[in-house]
Amino acid sequence: MELKDFDNKVVLVTGAGSGIGREAARAFAGRGATVVAADLNQGGLDETTRLIAELGGRALAVTADVSDEPQVRGLIARVQKDFGRLDVAFNNAGITGQAHRVEDYPTDDFDRVIAVNLRSVFIGMKHQIPLLRRTGGGAIVNTASVAALTGPGGMSAYAASKHGVHGLTRVAAMENAAHGLRINALAPGWTETPMVAAASAQNPGFTRLATSAIPAKRGARPAEIAAAAVWLASEASSYVMGQMLVVDGGMTIGGFEL
Ligand code: NAD
Repeated sequence: MELKDFDNKVVLVTGAGSGIGREAARAFAGRGATVVAADLNQGGLDETTRLIAELGGRALAVTADVSDEPQVRGLIARVQKDFGRLDVAFNNAGITGQAHRVEDYPTDDFDRVIAVNLRSVFIGMKHQIPLLRRTGGGAIVNTASVAALTGPGGMSAYAASKHGVHGLTRVAAMENAAHGLRINALAPGWTETPMVAAASAQNPGFTRLATSAIPAKRGARPAEIAAAAVWLASEASSYVMGQMLVVDGGMTIGGFEL
């Protein structure tokens, strides 16, 4: 029998117009949730809502820039007005930024990556937490990356932003653990999404690493990462708080195969 454990739940997914966010939005909808799909990209959102409708699921698409506080405040106000509740927020929108050594990294680009990947998670949680707590608690999942644990050359802004997401997640988890709201991070490894296609074009070293050094010898399918997000948001992980779940085909195991 198909699991419908998100029936009557309202789930917000950011970055829902592509990749991991789109797969997560589909997975939550497939398990009964009403999905609020947010993204900058209207065309991507249209495709996501079409895919959810195909499943017989429910979705509301909202165009918003997650790094802009008035837009995020408006998004949460819309969720409250339309549904009166929020049960899960998957703060997943992100960008990689350009690949440059630190000494060459354009400062404006550094600031933009931090704004989209880290400031967004702060602003998101700031406005989500009061609604989540008012309507009975639930879960927040923030997308970090293996770059929250490692130092990929050329990716200073990205790695700094994702290390920041890890820290922010732990603080917010500490502040909410006793209040029925679990907050965790998800650290995907190399995942075959449009973001990776763009990063590969810029950083061939990263591509070589992906195909040779990942113990699984392949990248993840977006649905494999989405499944972990759904688990972290579900009752199945009810005692998991403030953790970063690494889903990376063994990329960060370290060591060597015998
Ligand atoms: P993707 O590019 O396929 O999707 C990202 C989505 O975020 C896009 O639809 C984009 O329009 C949206 N977005 C970007 N900036 C936004 C903004 N300011 N406001 C609202 N939406 C915005 O990428 P993906 O691979 O699915 O990445 C999703 C998350 O996973 C990101 O946080 C990324 O850093 C993380 N991640 C990805 C990988 C990977 O290998 N693909 C690995 C580790 C972590």
